[in-house]
Order: sequence, then structure tokens, then C-alpha cells
Amino acid sequence: MQRDGARTSLWQFNMPSFPSPASAPPKEPVDVLIVGGGITGITTALLLQLSGKQCVVAEAKTLCFGTTGGTTAHLNTLLDHPYNEISSKFGENNAQLMAKAAKEALQLIRTNIETYNIDCGFEEQNGYMFAQDEKQEKELEEIRVATEKVGVPIQYTNEIPIPIAFTKAVVFKGQAKFHPARYVYAIAKEFEKAGGIILQGCRVTKTEENEFMEATTKYGIIRARNIIWATHIPPGVNLLHFRCAPYRSYATAIKLVGENYPDGLIYDMYDPYHYYRTQNIDGEKYLIIGGEDHKTAHEKDTVACFRKLESHINKFFDVDSIPFKWSSQYFEPTDGLPYIGHLPGNPDSVYVATGFGGNGMTCGTISAILLSDILVKGKSEYQELFDPNRLKPIAGFTNFVKEQADVVGKMIGGWISSEKIKEVSEIAHGEAKVVKYEDHKIALYKDETGKLHAVNPVCPHAKCIVEWNTAEKSWDCPCHGSRFNADGILLTGPASHDLEEVEIKDLVNESQKK
Ligand SMILES: Cc1cc2nc3c(=O)[nH]c(=O)nc-3n(C[C@H](O)[C@H](O)[C@H](O)COP(=O)(O)OP(=O)(O)OC[C@H]3O[C@@H](n4cnc5c(N)ncnc54)[C@H](O)[C@@H]3O)c2cc1C
Repeated sequence: MQRDGARTSLWQFNMPSFPSPASAPPKEPVDVLIVGGGITGITTALLLQLSGKQCVVAEAKTLCFGTTGGTTAHLNTLLDHPYNEISSKFGENNAQLMAKAAKEALQLIRTNIETYNIDCGFEEQNGYMFAQDEKQEKELEEIRVATEKVGVPIQYTNEIPIPIAFTKAVVFKGQAKFHPARYVYAIAKEFEKAGGIILQGCRVTKTEENEFMEATTKYGIIRARNIIWATHIPPGVNLLHFRCAPYRSYATAIKLVGENYPDGLIYDMYDPYHYYRTQNIDGEKYLIIGGEDHKTAHEKDTVACFRKLESHINKFFDVDSIPFKWSSQYFEPTDGLPYIGHLPGNPDSVYVATGFGGNGMTCGTISAILLSDILVKGKSEYQELFDPNRLKPIAGFTNFVKEQADVVGKMIGGWISSEKIKEVSEIAHGEAKVVKYEDHKIALYKDETGKLHAVNPVCPHAKCIVEWNTAEKSWDCPCHGSRFNADGILLTGPASHDLEEVEIKDLVNESQKK
């Protein structure tokens, strides 16, 4: 299983790519084209296909390539934006509705696992949140009161399952955990059994409205009555890119000395917070601990984030080894709720599911319920609450500006001698830097063999300058979260194009010098 980063996540371990025989879109128009093969796309596809809609899933790489392959898969009904916050912004009734949606999503996951007998290490869990000072205690009380009000059972407790000192803690019921890739693969198999088609290695590069919606892919045009962008963030330049901020979070899977693995989903209350849970995979237990979140490309040394996380872990746990360390990206909505429904500035038949923050297992499943209800029954009780059009348009902003890759292209072009770039010799093997060349900037990565990889650092999406992510060996855009590998190949959107390649003339000489 591939992922959008250089490090291997726990979920990739012993997980082959999803076998899918299809390699051509159907000739006839389908009811729904779902773009993206993460938890959101695959769950939505299954619900729609079972409701009688003919669906195609187009996935740019392989299933779970995006954040679903880099998640930590806590299944929550108490979310990162807690009910006191939702209640104060959207009112108590809407906080109740959010809680109802989250419970329904977890119930759908449970039902799927039971119905299809999915072996994905699913377990019901208690959640724990603990305060460590007076300010956190006050916040915890506000969360407890609001959570109780919306019907999620929560109470104070004197014990938490991890050896960290606290002043107050709550326990809340009805949470769960699972192996996300095993779950998604099983759901994808059921989708295919029901007649759905999955096309992997099938990036949608353009869409157009004609008699049907037409999506351009390397396999040809896919014609569909409706399109759902389940790509974590939609492509192009859309209002939603200004309402979803990209963040990275860091995760580790730890082998402890002894067998004392904590039972529960546990959270401290720092900002960013740490999260803890255990997963049993084929008889092997792992303690998963994550945190150290920051805005994408706003941290110079992303490897240092793992060091900080490890130092936190070593303070409290008897660590035998840390076989997996990985990071991944999520999109934080400005007002705390996800955006699920009609994609602003697009034809009525185009939908989106984004802005899940750190709760995309729950919110991706809510999206499946909401979008399938809209497409099958014509409405959903959640559609107003999560409506992406709830946002007031920014004055003067045309909703769907086309990405102007051609403006960026040819800015540098041609061959450049590495000797003309004085910083080349200062870059160590395995390091990267954005350097100046005449009036242009060039993003340089010198790999472990000394070979230079040079690209134009201007992101084709909104023309921000990308930054090197040392931990995942990728060029990340600080503005909207597009990511590219060392050769500029697109990993994740919203960009739809690679970074422009720059050819450096004396690659061979350079590698010989080192
Ligand atoms: C470290 C970390 C830990 C997290 N932990 C939790 C947690 O414990 N619980 C929780 O609920 N949430 C968690 N989240 C959030 C959650 O993992 C994500 O919100 C969720 O996985 C998003 O799923 P998705 O299917 O919407 O997107 P993705 O899984 O990112 O899938 C999108 C897919 O679309 C494909 N794609 C993109 N563009 C195109 C295109 N043009 N054509 C075709 N395909 C395309 C991509 O290749 C990708 O496979 C975490 C996030 C991070 C970063």
C-alpha cells in the first residue's frame, strides 16, 4: 500500500495494494463519480451503490494513499471542536445534531463491520480526557457539561489508563478504534461485489459540464450525472481553500517493555494535544501516540517534531522500540464544522466533503450518510448544518478560478549549471533548500547519493513558495497544503499539476565531487 509520504505508517505494514482489475471507465454515463479512495470516497461509494446508483471511484494512486493511510483511527463522538464550542457558534440544537450525526457514523461503521464480518481490529472503547492545571480544569468542566447535554455519556473519573499525572479527568462512553486500511479495503470489496467500479492510478485532471459531467483521466473521459470530490480537499482554487487550513500531525507506533498497554482513547488538553491508544494487529500490540501538530510547512525541521514527541513518550512510558513513525495532513475548518454538500461555485451536481480536522474517520462516514441521502432521497437532515455554502463569499472572489499552471511554467525552463548556484555545495546529502538563481527561486534536494533534484518552488495552485518537509521528503505548500515529492510530482492537492522540473546541467560532476 502506498502513502503520500516517505515514512511507513503502521497501517501500511503487511498491507499489499488493493487488487482491483478495472482499468477502463464504463462507456455509458454513470450515476455518480466519486473522486478519491480514502474512507470518505469508499464509504460513500458503497452506500450509493447499494441504493441502486451506478458508481465509479477514481483514485489518483491506490486506496488509502491519502490521510486515511496516515491516520491514527480513533472513532469519536466527542470531537476536536467540542460541543460547548459548537453550541456557542451554532446553537444548542445544532450541537445536538452534530452529536446525532457522529453517533450515526459510528453506528454505520459498527453495522458494516458486523454485516460484512470485517476483520479490522475494531473495539469499543472509553474515551478519557485529562486536565493538568486550573485553566484546563475549567475547560474540561465546560466540555463535560456540553457533552452531557448532547447525550454523550460523560463523567468525572479518578483513574486514566496511562501513567501521566492529572488534576481532573473525564471518561466518556461509546468511542471505538480499528485498523483503517483493513476496514476501507473490505468496504471497497463490498462495493465491487455490488457492481461498483474502482479505478486506481486514475487522477481526475479536469471536469466539465456538458450533457453530463465529464471528468478527464488518463483512462479517458468518465461521464457522470453527479461528481463527489472525496479528495480530502477539492482541487482548483475554491472558496473552501480559504476556509480550510492544512495542518500536519505526527504519529508513532510503540512496542512497550512488558504487556501493560493502555485500554482506551486518551487525550491531554494542550494545544496541540497528545493522543494515545493501543491497536492489536495479528496478535502484536502497539501503543499509538501522536501530537506535535503545526500548520503545514510552518515548521523548518519536521524531524524535530518526532524528537519532541519521543521525548514526551520516553518521559512516561517504558519503551522497547518505536517501529513506526509517520506524519500526515489534515484540514482544519475555520468555524469548527466540516463542509459536506454542494461545492460552492460549481454546477448543482458537484459535491464535496472536506474540513474534517482530526476527526475524518467520523466525519468521512457522516459525509457518506449525508451525500448518499441527498443523492438517493433528495435531502438529508444534516445538509444545512454542514452546508459548504454556509460561508459568506469573500467580496470580489470569483468562486472557481482556474488554476493557472501555464503562468508558473517556463519561469525558469531550460538547463542550468549547478556551478552557477553557489549554495549547491553547501547542501549536504539528504538535505534540501530553496535557493536564488538570477531572478528566480529554485527548490533543490540533494539525495543520499549526491544527485540533485531541482524544481520550480512556485506551487501551481495559488503560487506560494513550497517548503521542504524533512520528515516525509516532500515539498509542502504553506498556503493550502498541496504536496509534491522531491521531483515535483504531485502527492496531494488542492494543486492539480506537478511542480515544474528544472534541469541541472552537471549532475554527474556534482555527484562525483561528493
Ligand atoms: C496524523 C493524523 C491522525 C489522525 N487521526 C485521526 C483519528 O484518530 N480519528 C479521526 O477520525 N481522524 C483522524 N485524522 C483525520 C482523518 O485521518 C482524515 O480526515 C481522513 O482520513 C480523510 O479521509 P478522506 O477519505 O476524506 O481523504 P484521504 O484519505 O486523504 O483520501 C483522499 C484520496 O483522494 C485521492 N485524490 C486526490 N486528488 C485526486 C484526484 N484529482 N483524482 C483522483 N484521486 C484523487 C488521494 O490520492 C487520496 O487517496 C487524523 C489525521 C492525521 C493527519
